[in-house]
Amino acid sequence: MRIHHLNCGTCCPLGGRLFDGESEAAFGRLVCHCLLIESDAGLILVDTGFGIRDVTRPHERLSAFFLALNNIQLRPEETAIAQVRRLGFDPNDVRHIVISHLDFDHAGGIEDFPQATVHLLEDEMDAACRRRGGLMGSRRYRPQQWDEVADWRCYRAGEGEPWFGFQAVRDLDGLPPEILLVPLMGHTWGHSGVAICDAGSGGGWLFYAADAYFYRGEIGSRLYRCPPGLRTYQAMMEVDRSARLANQARLRRLSLTHEGEVRIFCAHDTVEFEILAADAPPAAVPVVGQGRGRRHEPALG
Ligand SMILES: [Zn+2]
Repeated sequence: MRIHHLNCGTCCPLGGRLFDGESEAAFGRLVCHCLLIESDAGLILVDTGFGIRDVTRPHERLSAFFLALNNIQLRPEETAIAQVRRLGFDPNDVRHIVISHLDFDHAGGIEDFPQATVHLLEDEMDAACRRRGGLMGSRRYRPQQWDEVADWRCYRAGEGEPWFGFQAVRDLDGLPPEILLVPLMGHTWGHSGVAICDAGSGGGWLFYAADAYFYRGEIGSRLYRCPPGLRTYQAMMEVDRSARLANQARLRRLSLTHEGEVRIFCAHDTVEFEILAADAPPAAVPVVGQGRGRRHEPALG
């Protein structure tokens, strides 16, 4: 397997370092960290950021509230489909999408890959379909981003095995056994992370925790650190505070006890993204074969 780190959406909220912890400017910078995995089961996307229709018709797809609050940058070149093409792949070779949760900043690119099977926890599907959470639910869950999906694969939250202190961790239908779904409730009702055993890094784990935390200082140290803007944003978006904080504590513990074995990262921290994207192995040699992500000559221009 080969793993590419993609930023599929940039948000620049007013408040600068109150949100990203480092900007000198008035506006912060947050990414939508997604993964593209080359595997024997074809190309696999983990989360999708914003899609083509989000950036071309934002007011039909996204809530005015989040467009303004997050100052979402509408950049076609950051969509997953544009980056898949730029890497030299055919978007039709994206066979699977694993979705951490159906918030607008993770689910926007799903319909750019209509042939893909979309995997997620049943509780998340249920919450999103019912737009659970009142006004916030109708702003965060945008059915227009995913109501055309033909092939959902939903999983019960309680089924699976223990993994590094997390419960009910499981593999996914049709995906390599090295890719695991890790329930991390709290941010939403069916929020989950994705763990990938990465042979390329000597057999260690990459653990995408999505929105279980937002800032690099929330893990990796006994001292909790998070800019106040992001702390407030997380509290505003949470649906189960005790579950969210318990999962965050588990992630922090794991980051301290298995530092060399498990590399944890979240969806929106720019520094984490830039380090992982820079560390990723160089572009692959073209791969030709049935059912596998096949490289094409990138289009000119
Ligand atoms: Zn998010």
